[in-house]
Amino acid sequence: MRKTETNLIHTGEEFNKTKAVVAPIYQTSTYFADENLDEYVAAATEPKHPEFYHRHGNPTNSQVAAVIAKLEKTEDALVLATGMAAISTAMLAVVKAGDHIVAQNAHYSGATLFLKEFLSEYGITVSHVDQTNNQAFVDAIQPNTKLIYIETPSNPNLDITDLAFVGQLGKEKGILTMVDNTFASPINQVPSEFGIDVIIHSATKYLGGHSDLTAGVICGSKDFIVKAWRRSITLGASLSPFDSWLLLRGLKTLSLRVHQINSNALALAEWLEKNPAIKKVAYTGLKSHPQHELAKKQLKGHTGMLCIEVAGNDEEEEFKNAQTILSNLTIFANAASLGGVESLVVHPASMWGSHHSKTQKQVSGITRGMLRISVGIEHIDDIIADWEQAIGKI
Ligand SMILES: *Cc1c(COP(=O)(O)O)cnc(C)c1O
Repeated sequence: MRKTETNLIHTGEEFNKTKAVVAPIYQTSTYFADENLDEYVAAATEPKHPEFYHRHGNPTNSQVAAVIAKLEKTEDALVLATGMAAISTAMLAVVKAGDHIVAQNAHYSGATLFLKEFLSEYGITVSHVDQTNNQAFVDAIQPNTKLIYIETPSNPNLDITDLAFVGQLGKEKGILTMVDNTFASPINQVPSEFGIDVIIHSATKYLGGHSDLTAGVICGSKDFIVKAWRRSITLGASLSPFDSWLLLRGLKTLSLRVHQINSNALALAEWLEKNPAIKKVAYTGLKSHPQHELAKKQLKGHTGMLCIEVAGNDEEEEFKNAQTILSNLTIFANAASLGGVESLVVHPASMWGSHHSKTQKQVSGITRGMLRISVGIEHIDDIIADWEQAIGKI
């Protein structure tokens, strides 16, 4: 069996019917029928057919899906226009009015909005539990629970959900399990190995890796992907030919990038933890992470995501100091998103100010002195020097 690095470059090549070493961009909305009309009719109805009409499929979309399904060790995958399209399409392929979902307190903000505001208007109820408490998932299950939706490590505070426990719980109770694996990337974490049924990514982040596209992917069994595809052709968020091509290109270096990012992030986390200007560093690779042992069981590497709390005499001063750091960092741009080759930093309390109420922020563990960092592949010496000078401005 070929290894990941090889698969990233060669999986799905059968979808490139040309002699071009790099698959062309199929910048077309539609494909003509040849003489055999029966074949055309079959193409119109076959899920994900790559050459019928773009909303149904595209050769590059099929190639990208094959690469990601291989990484995630699932039978199939479906690529869509954004991570949120993947999340909403996948959930709507599972639940209908009258059903119940068990989810976490902390999720990506868009997922939280979808769970709390959108689904409730369509008669779907959701229980939110503390992801670090296995029993809370068990206790939240109701007779009409159809989905357990998790995210690990979660955004922004890097809490861990026990994948093996949730995978087993889903199997025992006959409930579908779904995880947002964006933060880890499949290089660091393969949830299907722990019995999770459906894996979602915002491919905008690590999979694309260059902050130049938006995309999402749903990975699962062949049957589930057909269900999700049927939803997707009515919801309509197909991934554009060019973004798909960029994603295919970005994926080739995924393993190289993620390994460098893991190593940079661990070094930065260790440096920050020793700095008195920083009150707390949440990084799954540090021994001080309350779930470090569990993290080691399910993560092969600890990702580029860390979350810190800046020190200060009171909350106001912590906020002020966080702002000083934020505005003085030069390599780390203050920008939404994560997982690219360039380092980014955000102030979660400001970024999600409009989405989250004060209590929601408390439940999600967001404080005003908190900064979320996405470490890139710049040289580690420059990364640390940037933090050193920015902290020096306090
Ligand atoms: C960014 C992100 C999403 C949403 O992805 P988009 O591509 O922006 O729609 C979902 N989950 C996580 C964990 C994310 O970081």
